[in-house]
Amino acid sequence: MSPSSQIHSTQANTANLSAQRTTEGFALNNLTTVAADLIEYNTMRLSCQTDRLITLNLESDIEPAVAEIDRLGTPIFVLSGGSNVILPEILHASVLHPTYKGIEILAEGTDSITIEVMGGENWHELVVYTVNQGWYGLENLALIPGLVGASPVQNIGAYGVQLEDYMTHVKAFHLPTQTWHEFNKSDCQFNYRDSIFKQQAGQWLITRVGFKLHKDALKVTANYGDVSTLAMTKAEADSRSEITAKDVMQAIIEIRQSKLPDPKKLPNCGSFFKNPIIANNRFAALSAEYPNIVGYPVGDEQTKVAAGWLIDNAGLKGKGIAPILTHDKQALVLVNHSAADSNTPASQHDILATQQLIQQTIQDQFGIALEREPVWVNNEAHY
Ligand SMILES: Cc1cc2nc3c(=O)[nH]c(=O)nc-3n(C[C@H](O)[C@H](O)[C@H](O)COP(=O)(O)OP(=O)(O)OC[C@H]3O[C@@H](n4cnc5c(N)ncnc54)[C@H](O)[C@@H]3O)c2cc1C
Repeated sequence: MSPSSQIHSTQANTANLSAQRTTEGFALNNLTTVAADLIEYNTMRLSCQTDRLITLNLESDIEPAVAEIDRLGTPIFVLSGGSNVILPEILHASVLHPTYKGIEILAEGTDSITIEVMGGENWHELVVYTVNQGWYGLENLALIPGLVGASPVQNIGAYGVQLEDYMTHVKAFHLPTQTWHEFNKSDCQFNYRDSIFKQQAGQWLITRVGFKLHKDALKVTANYGDVSTLAMTKAEADSRSEITAKDVMQAIIEIRQSKLPDPKKLPNCGSFFKNPIIANNRFAALSAEYPNIVGYPVGDEQTKVAAGWLIDNAGLKGKGIAPILTHDKQALVLVNHSAADSNTPASQHDILATQQLIQQTIQDQFGIALEREPVWVNNEAHY
């Protein structure tokens, strides 16, 4: 992998970028596993029997695969890393799983670089790769699970940075009309954990995402929690007086590893609830009653309340309805405690039971409605 070549990848697979969109010689069966269980394809480890799982190794597979599925008459569901979905026990759908990879440099100057990344690239590997290349901006989003193609769907965000801060464009296939589209940033209608792709769930397959990254290692966002303190210890250990983007990335990786359960060891799908946004006067009233309540200003009139604080302070840390409990270090994360080899794996119903217990408790104690963050999928791949 050479920095001077135009096509890169976080892995060695670079062939797909220039793949021609051709239907010649296409056979859907070659890409398909029939009657597949998706338990290994979602980080919550929910067993989900689906009609067929179609692995898209090439971008050029998309058009013929979707045309063929259209003839079969089944709904389509796009599944990337499975780290933000709550799947049903039975999913009557053709599941598209993108694996195509590649990173292309579109433009480069002394201060910045614009790249286009294929949807099957692993998100965290992209972050590490760009920072190691000296291309900065994504470092605060290190260790978020999932694939690049899913990253615009909920405008992923962490430690004071959201995808929209560095994303330039999206290329996507519209599944109902089988047509290609390009979105610039404003077309994506980004919001907190939201975008047009989440609003129009099930309609789009994102194939490429563009980013404009900068080359100033000292331009960092480190004003969130312990990030700057930990990053500074890394700089000082290296006899430097200023923190770099790489220090920030390493600090965030360490903080996340210490706070968040690893889905491979304890299945989960990250934050289960969005941080609720309430009016400042409502927050002031709650602060009078609960002086330690945690909130961050959103504009001049609203406050984003830490949902994890609410759950923790309602006495629900480590609690729930077995086998789905809140994590004992991070109450915002629901973990699946059913054994990996269990004959009765946890289901969507188990998740719903704990979700409703938490929502009701928070509503009763704080008067706040918690909204679920991960995508809830029903039997017909509707949301
Ligand atoms: C431990 C842990 C920590 C996490 N931390 C964070 C965090 O800090 N910040 C944050 O924002 N999120 C976080 N998440 C949530 C999750 O990682 C992100 O939302 C991620 O972008 C999901 O990617 P995925 O590939 O797993 O998507 P999936 O779970 O496969 O899909 C999610 C949704 O996007 C759709 N989709 C997937 N791929 C595409 C595509 N190519 N085109 C169109 N639609 C698509 C799916 O149909 C589904 O509706 C965390 C999750 C875990 C498990």
